[in-house]
Amino acid sequence: MKTQAAVAFNANDPFSIEEVKLANPVEGQVRVKISACGICRSDLSALEGKETIQFPVVLGHEATGNIDAVGPGVSGLTEGDEVILSWTPECGSCPACCRGEVHLCHGINMTTGGEGPLSMGDTRLDRFMGLGAFCEHVVVPQAMAIPLNTSLPPEHSCLIGCGVTTGFGAAVNTAAIRWGESVAVLGCGGVGLAAIQGARIAGAARIIAIDPIEERRNAALQVGATDAFSPQNIVKAVMNLTGTGVDCAIECVGSIPTMQDAFNMTREGGRTIVVGLPGYTEMLDIPAIMLLREKKLTGSIYGSASPHVDFPKIAALGETGRLDFASLVDKTRHFSEINQGFEEMREGKLTRVVLTF
Ligand SMILES: [Zn+2]
Ligand SMILES: [Zn+2]
Repeated sequence: MKTQAAVAFNANDPFSIEEVKLANPVEGQVRVKISACGICRSDLSALEGKETIQFPVVLGHEATGNIDAVGPGVSGLTEGDEVILSWTPECGSCPACCRGEVHLCHGINMTTGGEGPLSMGDTRLDRFMGLGAFCEHVVVPQAMAIPLNTSLPPEHSCLIGCGVTTGFGAAVNTAAIRWGESVAVLGCGGVGLAAIQGARIAGAARIIAIDPIEERRNAALQVGATDAFSPQNIVKAVMNLTGTGVDCAIECVGSIPTMQDAFNMTREGGRTIVVGLPGYTEMLDIPAIMLLREKKLTGSIYGSASPHVDFPKIAALGETGRLDFASLVDKTRHFSEINQGFEEMREGKLTRVVLTF
């Protein structure tokens, strides 16, 4: 079929809305008509040429929509079903999937290397995270379309496809925060605000939000942070507040100094969780001796989530108002205004711009 996609031809170029060709779903695949797609920070860093992708590319990986066509051999999904796109292919056969850790599926890849159903003239288009959802339609394996019956509007539910699951899951799954604990969240963009809400819902007593931007600190206080600081001399400030450091620090920035702060403000025996995406060649220096005080340092990808299990539960928390989605979206724009949306995300004050179709 022919459909419309926002194509990035070169790093840092504006997107151009183009008519593209999308092959029909084959064995095990479904076609999804996209209704909303958030602009995630990793879309921005891909556009800036910092990720392993191939231009021309269609970005977008935080989307929801409805099944529009079903390939042979697909079961359990029919035309019209509402789905959230997941960026783990959940192949079911790699060692990670066999261990039940589908968030570590070996099939996860930022680039499709131009392989797949999307092309423009003779040029094959890469699809970021195997999705390429800045497009009116996508064709994906069935496992990447998670069925969901929800009363959440698409401009909220789409966030479950990346940012909310990444942040919320880091707090409740990876960090397994327990009631009464103290938690610091470094970086209060969309992922950080979701982590704060995860800590709140898990029953954390003190939640310290850390961000240089005042609007974001205010947003953090609104969704459940008990204290908010800018990052200057933050380790000392957290020590003064907690005495021994926090039980758990969650880094949502992806910068080395912030990771070091997170580790240094974690109490002995506590957990430091790194969610932010660093540069591919960056190294992290930490005081090794602190490992002998049983500090634990671990990463978290996709909130250690299993999309088929966790997406419906996260949506249910949104439906009952326990997880506040409205505070996570500061603007919706029509798909045709994607370049303005990216400009607003680049300025850094907004946590999420969501495109509607
Ligand atoms: Zn797998
Ligand atoms: Zn993302």
